[in-house]
Amino acid sequence: MHQFHNTSPDRPREECGVCGIFGHQDAAKLTYFGLYALQHRGQESAGIVTSDGIQIHQHRGMGLVHEVFSEETLQSLNGHAAIGHVRYSTTGESNIVNAQPFTAVHQGCTLSVAHNGNLVNIRSLRDELEKRGSIFQSTMDSEVVVHLLAKSSLGKGFEEALKETMRQIKGAYSMLLMTETKLIAVRDPQGFRPLCLGKLNNGGHIVASETCALDLVEATYIRDIEPGEILIIDSGGIQSIKPEKPEKPSLCIFEHVYFARPDSDIFGFNVYQSRKRMGNILAREAKIDADLVMPFPDSGNYAAIGYSQESGIPLEMGVIRNHYVGRTFIQPTQSMRDFSVRIKLNPVRSFLEGKRVIVIEDSIIRGTTGKSRVKSLREVGVKEIHMMISCPPTRFPCYYGIDFPSGGELIANAKTVDEIRDYLELDTLQYLSIEGLVEATGYPADRFCLACFNGEYPVQPDREFHKLALGGK
Ligand code: SF4
Repeated sequence: MHQFHNTSPDRPREECGVCGIFGHQDAAKLTYFGLYALQHRGQESAGIVTSDGIQIHQHRGMGLVHEVFSEETLQSLNGHAAIGHVRYSTTGESNIVNAQPFTAVHQGCTLSVAHNGNLVNIRSLRDELEKRGSIFQSTMDSEVVVHLLAKSSLGKGFEEALKETMRQIKGAYSMLLMTETKLIAVRDPQGFRPLCLGKLNNGGHIVASETCALDLVEATYIRDIEPGEILIIDSGGIQSIKPEKPEKPSLCIFEHVYFARPDSDIFGFNVYQSRKRMGNILAREAKIDADLVMPFPDSGNYAAIGYSQESGIPLEMGVIRNHYVGRTFIQPTQSMRDFSVRIKLNPVRSFLEGKRVIVIEDSIIRGTTGKSRVKSLREVGVKEIHMMISCPPTRFPCYYGIDFPSGGELIANAKTVDEIRDYLELDTLQYLSIEGLVEATGYPADRFCLACFNGEYPVQPDREFHKLALGGK
């Protein structure tokens, strides 16, 4: 009897989500709920570190948030301040040593770090630190940050040390740091990953990757942490340190295409609405006659609504999702080849038979999932399958905290759109244009990172970057 791991290898995976609370007696519990709301950003490990003003308490584990924490463990995490983390890893191997937040003691002070993103010069920073005597316990970016801070803080004070560390690290980081008395939120100068600030009912504060975490703990959204900003929250209030010379932002547009929850506002605008607009624009760019528009739930749902509204072609749920599939399940016999697709998503056979359908997907990464999905529709007698993708072809890997496969494994890197259409055995295949994608956000193109579509990387990675990304070697 085999266990089949039900985390599709054909979906891009977000690396992490972070949540921090300051000024609430149930800081651990509120952070737990915040992480619960951010579970989609990382499912491999979870951790919470709290401070009672004198001492730091922590609990980390492998698994989903509800698997890692019990009522008992949460009760043992005393304190008015907390930071928490959910993780899916690309940098650093998947084991408990690499679960975050990462905590270290330096000169009598304790510092914990929770990081979402990827530092692209990590290898050279680490080599340099090792030459100067640093010893690493993990392969995580966050540990490098702690070492840099420890080295810089000698005689300078925390604020200056943080600024100096930010000058040294390159890449994507939406980061929460906590000492015994402070919660600090930092966002990289390009602002790749989101990070927002909210106010709790009791006057305390929350900082989180997405606004859906604020909703769950009934916090009011105040604003986003700005690219390059350092926000220090302590018993004296909030202090903001903004960069003297702000850099051009490179917000990750893929947060809106795929990663973030649709009920979140990311970079100041709502994900549900931007996904619907992607569908609207796709319908204008890719007109086709068909009997119905349908998503493969849940990824294509919102763009499908937009496509249907714009085209006037009715929206139908032609595939039904089983909501009770766990992360692992018993593998069936060899003859049931499409089991792993069918157990999650099953086409409505008698309804779809003989129909011409437009299938809306948010992305095609390797193409293996798409192929099985198309096959499952053919098998129930669908007459024509026109697939519309609500983003442009993803042709290049991401270096900023998203786990895409390497260039060669991305189907759009190796094949033309026509070749992908033939590989997937579709009648037609059309992608949203880069211009259409940007238009759906309502912002100018120069605010966004579009590197996975156009190969123009806003921050160049170290040559050695790939090695570490493949497991810290
Ligand atoms: S390369 Fe793509 S996924 Fe990565 S940060 Fe840029 S837009 Fe986002």
